[in-house]
Amino acid sequence: MENYLTKLWLSLRHQFWTKRLWVSGFLALVALLSVLNSAAISGTISVQASPTNPQLGDTVTVLIQAETGASPTVVMNQKTYPAFAIAPNRFRALLPTTPLDRPGQLNIQVNGVGDPQTLALQLRDRDFPTQSIWLSGGGSDGTDHEFNKVDAFKALVTPNKLWNGKFQRPTEGEITTIYGVRRYYNGEFAQDYYHRGVDYGADTGAPIVAPAAGKVALVGREADGFELHGNTIGVDHGQGVVSIFLHLSRIDVKEGDVVQAGQRLGAVGATGGVTGPHLHWGLYVNGKSIDPVPWRYGSFE
Ligand SMILES: [Zn+2]
Repeated sequence: MENYLTKLWLSLRHQFWTKRLWVSGFLALVALLSVLNSAAISGTISVQASPTNPQLGDTVTVLIQAETGASPTVVMNQKTYPAFAIAPNRFRALLPTTPLDRPGQLNIQVNGVGDPQTLALQLRDRDFPTQSIWLSGGGSDGTDHEFNKVDAFKALVTPNKLWNGKFQRPTEGEITTIYGVRRYYNGEFAQDYYHRGVDYGADTGAPIVAPAAGKVALVGREADGFELHGNTIGVDHGQGVVSIFLHLSRIDVKEGDVVQAGQRLGAVGATGGVTGPHLHWGLYVNGKSIDPVPWRYGSFE
């Protein structure tokens, strides 16, 4: 009997503590801990952030289940962001991160849902390519007129969500400069510079389409002082998400036009401070230029 029990015990122990179970048990624990860390739950209020493991340039989505219909606000690293209703008592805030942020802990606090809810994420570092630029003077630094117009456009936060699903590429042609590229000017690292968008190489005249639905909220022309940006279109997708298109040869829309995803906006050109024809597309969330790639391949709702 004792022998039988020992054998049974050894066999059970063998079955239970195989290496595989150890590994999957460990992975399940890690997954559980990371989910718990990215979610705050108290009563019927819950706050969730994704991605749980963001990197520089990512947009962090915060989903809030509240007890009432009053809109909460979200504070991340001392900045306050709006949250918009996506269903009864359910809200969503979009938090931008950029190459200028410091990797490490992101502290997120949700206010306006009773007791403040807090959660923390780890913002991962990311290696961006660098370019060396040697300036020899000449060329426009841009005009106050264009910067005032462009800054006001980037700061837009309008209440209705106009985009739907994944963003599409705004023009054919390959990407020539990705988001986030850093620069050295005359051998010195430019602390505040990063490429605030994606460049597509294409010939002058190639069509540009809206990557998502929105409302045309900016049209600027080189002839009217857009010396650096060149001919420019800005599309407001709503709720703090805006797209800007630079260096166009032609503009086919006017301010106030409502455009659908894929609708023609204008054509690629080489206007403004550029050396050759290309489209620069910048995607901004609450005033900050974020990496459009996650918006192209995943959807933010
Ligand atoms: Zn560019």
